[in-house]
Amino acid sequence: MRIGILALQGDFERHEAALRRLDVDTVLVRKPAQLQDCDGLILPGGESTTFVHLMRETELWEPLKSFCDRRPVFGTCAGLIVLATEVVNQRVDTLGAIDITVRRNAYGRQRESFVADVELTVGQDRRPFEGVFIRAPRILRVGSSTTVLGTRGEEPVLVSNGQILAATFHPELTDDLRIHSLFVDMVRGWLAGRDRAALGKE
Ligand code: GLN
Repeated sequence: MRIGILALQGDFERHEAALRRLDVDTVLVRKPAQLQDCDGLILPGGESTTFVHLMRETELWEPLKSFCDRRPVFGTCAGLIVLATEVVNQRVDTLGAIDITVRRNAYGRQRESFVADVELTVGQDRRPFEGVFIRAPRILRVGSSTTVLGTRGEEPVLVSNGQILAATFHPELTDDLRIHSLFVDMVRGWLAGRDRAALGKE
């Protein structure tokens, strides 16, 4: 299994370190051809408008769109914004890979960064996850194809539609590997499904 990390901007190195700790091979993706080597992909935090600009400039936009249709993708913070179907404030094009509506920089200036407990509804270990929120977006609407996997109070902060996983916080900034491990399991499940299909059992 090999998981790519989009390395155009942002904190991709921390994601790489987390995946290495889980013994997963990684590739830092900067060009469209590199996507062919990836069974899954992480879109890190950063600045979503800059991301979109760089994705277009490197001609990664269309390949990324079709990658999201075919394979597991995990977006954190700006990565979540880029994956969403709708952003209510500030114009930013998105890949529309998971049905959520988000607001960018939703916590205002006083609370640009903070740490808060995230309650998980997945995994065997349900202890609260330390969520690091940095100029974080808020999920305002969750579509019917989207499942909430983590909340901060009443608010959804970790969501999935089975193929796409998205967090408004930064799990790569803590030592807790539970969320990366969840994504690795999604990629493993996808690979197993593909192998079964190739064997003609499905
Ligand atoms: N505020 C950034 C944006 O709107 C996201 C911040 C982050 O990724 N930490 O794109």
